Amino acid sequence: GESITVKELAEKMKNSPAEVIKKLMMLGVLATINQEIDADTATILAQEFGFEVEVKVEQDVEALFMQEPEDDPADLQPRPCVVTVMGHVDHGKTSLLDAIRETNVTATEAGGITQHIGAYQVEHNNKKITFLDTPGHEAFTAMRARGAKVTDIAILVVAADDGVMPQTVEAINHAKAAGVPIIVAINKIDRPDANPDRVKQQLTEYGLVAEEWGGETVMVPVSAKTRQGLEDLLEMILLVAEMQELKANPNRPARGTVIEAELDKGRGPVATVLVQNGTLTVGDNLVAGTTWARVRAMMDYKGRRVKKAGPSTPVEVLGFSEVPQAGDQFFVVPDEKTARQIAEKRANRKREEEFKAAMPRVSLDDLFNQ
Ligand code: GDP
Ligand code: MG
Repeated sequence: GESITVKELAEKMKNSPAEVIKKLMMLGVLATINQEIDADTATILAQEFGFEVEVKVEQDVEALFMQEPEDDPADLQPRPCVVTVMGHVDHGKTSLLDAIRETNVTATEAGGITQHIGAYQVEHNNKKITFLDTPGHEAFTAMRARGAKVTDIAILVVAADDGVMPQTVEAINHAKAAGVPIIVAINKIDRPDANPDRVKQQLTEYGLVAEEWGGETVMVPVSAKTRQGLEDLLEMILLVAEMQELKANPNRPARGTVIEAELDKGRGPVATVLVQNGTLTVGDNLVAGTTWARVRAMMDYKGRRVKKAGPSTPVEVLGFSEVPQAGDQFFVVPDEKTARQIAEKRANRKREEEFKAAMPRVSLDDLFNQ
């Protein structure tokens, strides 16, 4: 319900908080200066002081759009899975992402394509897979800290010559904490000193037992260098994705997560976002964290301008008021005014919280014990 603090009410009546607290006591209410009192109590109290009270119900626009409306199951359609690659440094994460992308370059794109954003999509057996470039650890920690879940499947890259290393274990923990299924890509099997069985053996210590050893974890031997096993890996990704029955409703206002963002000298704030539900359209107004945007233009991972982006599609978005943060969740609102209003309210709240956190805390005990 609506409420006001004793202090605010006293200020409005140009009276001292002490007087207000006294009157409250006479009404049988014990209150401190910063205490919130409800509209009814405030009304009676103000009348005692000879004021009339008009209760304004402030509509919480933010709450109105924050809540993700449930989709009617009939409106849901299959969506591509979103994959992140994790693993120890130098085990071949970047090489693997590059190799998969290049394997999927069509003849018309001979000479290769330049990837423009930190994500891309490939097609395998007529099904799309979205790969995020964000270093897995960061993706998981930063995103999860903000309550965002972007990944459907984690690819754990382990070099067959090096085996399980500290960051391999970290990656396993991140994926497990996020409840994301792991597919192990045993990489560098082209190397003479590659020992995939040793990797499988080591992984059992962390609860990842290969299917061929009676476990449940899909492990695919690959080489980013020779591209051996890449088709199998894509195949397995689609298989694991299929079991998740990933669905979304493309026919509703978009929501999703900011994957990365920066200030571009020429274009202003730009953000790569992942649409997770609904369809993002040029001209849409959105809120992301404490920033807002009127979507001026969108580019897909090949740098091509697009007008629409459906579920599981990564796009670069122009038109942000400020640079949002990676992990910020976004949602589309009906108009620019609403977007601006919610973003400003959040920015103010954040400033207040930071201010409060920076204030020295003094308790009564401290005061008396000096
Ligand atoms: P990241 O740190 O996990 O991103 O690893 P990189 O992709 O940068 O790879 C680290 C090194 O391993 C580079 O020198 C790659 O050329 C090499 N490398 C990656 N994948 C393979 C592979 O399948 N076979 C061989 N022989 N070398 C690889
Ligand atoms: Mg790398």
